[in-house]
Amino acid sequence: MSPMRARLKNAKLKTSVPPRWRKEVERVLITEAQLARRVKTLAGEVEKDFRGREMVIVSLLSGTVMFLADLIRHLDLPLRLDFMGVSSYGSGTESGELVFTKELRLEVHGRDVLLVDDILDTGKTMSRVLPKIRALKPRRIKTCVLLDKPARRVEKIHADYVGFAIPDLFVVGYGLDFAERYRNLPFVGVLHPHIYQESGKTKPAP
Ligand code: 5GP
Ligand code: MG
Repeated sequence: MSPMRARLKNAKLKTSVPPRWRKEVERVLITEAQLARRVKTLAGEVEKDFRGREMVIVSLLSGTVMFLADLIRHLDLPLRLDFMGVSSYGSGTESGELVFTKELRLEVHGRDVLLVDDILDTGKTMSRVLPKIRALKPRRIKTCVLLDKPARRVEKIHADYVGFAIPDLFVVGYGLDFAERYRNLPFVGVLHPHIYQESGKTKPAP
């Protein structure tokens, strides 16, 4: 195959859903290459704002795994990393009550904190987590999300660093799950509605 044809084939593969996932994933919303580029840019912005400070990154489990791993490898700063576990036990269309499944272990008092989440949707998660961290008296808190769905917001909240603003679609991949699956997809894709309809839900509860 000529280098030109190989390149074209490669480009096509990256924007279409790999055959293995086609029955479950409708389309690729954000490609691997787009994610890589944007995350690197985002890390540059964070680095500029936090330069000269020792930061604590607080990442929410488990949807942030890939985003976090890619983000921090571009951060040329001294940093500490901790996780908070937050789950929402809801059924049907609404996200249910939030339950903390893992608490912070590191000291954040007087420190500069970057709170990282996978996606800012209704804003309920962030608006529960932020006061919890603020109560620990950090020097400041900035928020960073890979994805933002402004159309679904019910809480008055925004993120300081946003990877991509997306429409009101249920997405999976690059750490994001549906029923704990699809986190390993290297791209962000739109789930076929039949997947969550078959599971008896009209729409997934985040
Ligand atoms: P919020 O509390 O802002 O409504 O929702 C935030 C959480 O809901 C995210 O951390 C994420 O776990 C989940 N969530 C919201 N929208 C989506 C989505 O489109 N796909 C997936 N996989 N999770 C979502
Ligand atoms: Mg989450």
